Amino acid sequence: MKTIIIGAGPASLMAATQAVKNGNEVIVFEKMKTAGRKFLVAGDGGFNLTHEGSLDDFSSYYSHPQIANIIRQFTNDDLVAWLKEIEIDTYVGSSGKIFPVKGIKPAFILKTWLNALKNKGVKFVFNATLLDFSSDEVVIKTNTVIEKYRFDHLVLGLGAASWPKTGSDATWVSLFKTKQIEVIPFQPSNAGINCLLPAEFLQKFQGEVFKNVIVSHQTSTRKGEVVLTNYGVEGAPIYYLNPSIRSNISVPIVIDFKPDFSENEIVAILKNAANISEGLKKLKIPNPIIFWCKSYLTKENYTSTHYISKLIKSFLIKPISFRPIEEAISCCGGVSWNELNENLRLINYPKISVVGEMIDWDAPTGGYLLQACFSTGFVAAQPI
Ligand SMILES: Cc1cc2nc3c(=O)[nH]c(=O)nc-3n(C[C@H](O)[C@H](O)[C@H](O)COP(=O)(O)OP(=O)(O)OC[C@H]3O[C@@H](n4cnc5c(N)ncnc54)[C@H](O)[C@@H]3O)c2cc1C
Repeated sequence: MKTIIIGAGPASLMAATQAVKNGNEVIVFEKMKTAGRKFLVAGDGGFNLTHEGSLDDFSSYYSHPQIANIIRQFTNDDLVAWLKEIEIDTYVGSSGKIFPVKGIKPAFILKTWLNALKNKGVKFVFNATLLDFSSDEVVIKTNTVIEKYRFDHLVLGLGAASWPKTGSDATWVSLFKTKQIEVIPFQPSNAGINCLLPAEFLQKFQGEVFKNVIVSHQTSTRKGEVVLTNYGVEGAPIYYLNPSIRSNISVPIVIDFKPDFSENEIVAILKNAANISEGLKKLKIPNPIIFWCKSYLTKENYTSTHYISKLIKSFLIKPISFRPIEEAISCCGGVSWNELNENLRLINYPKISVVGEMIDWDAPTGGYLLQACFSTGFVAAQPI
């Protein structure tokens, strides 16, 4: 059986891994010069390949029950076991994220994986862009020619719309539309949020990190580190709250700077201090918030221990909009689940599967994104 795979991201490479294991002749076409560019970007600042957790807990992080069901067929434990098979050992970090052991760089994982595939006979063609497909043929443009290739099975792993310089620029969406395949419009996910905060404040304090704060939006809550930027806020808890913020952007983000103290305890500390300024220092309130209290509060509010205590426990930030999709870590939106069967085949093109971020699902960072890419690649190629 001849299996063609388009795109050389992690979802496609996992599909190639399974397809070749099942005895298929596999050829991968990738429009960039090299494979896995976004995979390498993901490895830049701590490479969480997946996350620990029981299946029920793990699957609860996904937006759609369909993707949770896919994860069940190739779980976080399966991924760790498979990585071991290709001699990549992992460890669980204190936060539950699963990383390759120290010293193993993302480029080494990718190279090891690609070599393993090549040794099994998988062929790679780079600078090769998918222009069109029918039920049994693809049209591929390389530097010099446009050619048609027939397939018994086609896997499309074309990525979403964030970080387009890595190759995932979602140009495939218009092609899908011409074929009446429903694609839910992409929106930024795991993205920073533009906020209504004074420009001079953002300029002065961009880069400051609020550690161990609790951030809430509507009914969603997360503890972690929030980073102040020149446009607003970002960081893992903000990414976690993205779906809630997207659902109602007019509701403010609330930050609790002292989650281990009650309002009354804060009032008592402020009252015992020589003055409010000393009290705020004693409480180790971050400098930007001390500046905020001094610069933007009326004298009456600044000297009210109750007012300050409330502000420390629930500092309100008004979100305005999401950062542009190009900057986002991932996207929500993609090929609608209405178009797919349980093996991720397109219902109207039964020889074609789609995998990875091009499908309509969402999850927070922390290893959940890559896990879903690996799991979709596995599930799509398993029956080929
Ligand atoms: C800054 C950043 C940090 C991240 N950190 C993490 C993390 O720590 N943990 C985690 O789990 N996830 C992380 N991710 C997300 C993770 O990288 C993605 O979920 C994953 O790479 C998506 O895999 P994919 O195979 O679906 O698509 P992609 O990796 O986007 O690959 C799609 C491929 O298809 C190719 N392509 C597109 N169109 C065509 C065409 N017409 N013809 C031929 N080829 C085409 C593209 O060039 C690309 O190589 C991060 C992402 C970013 C941007």
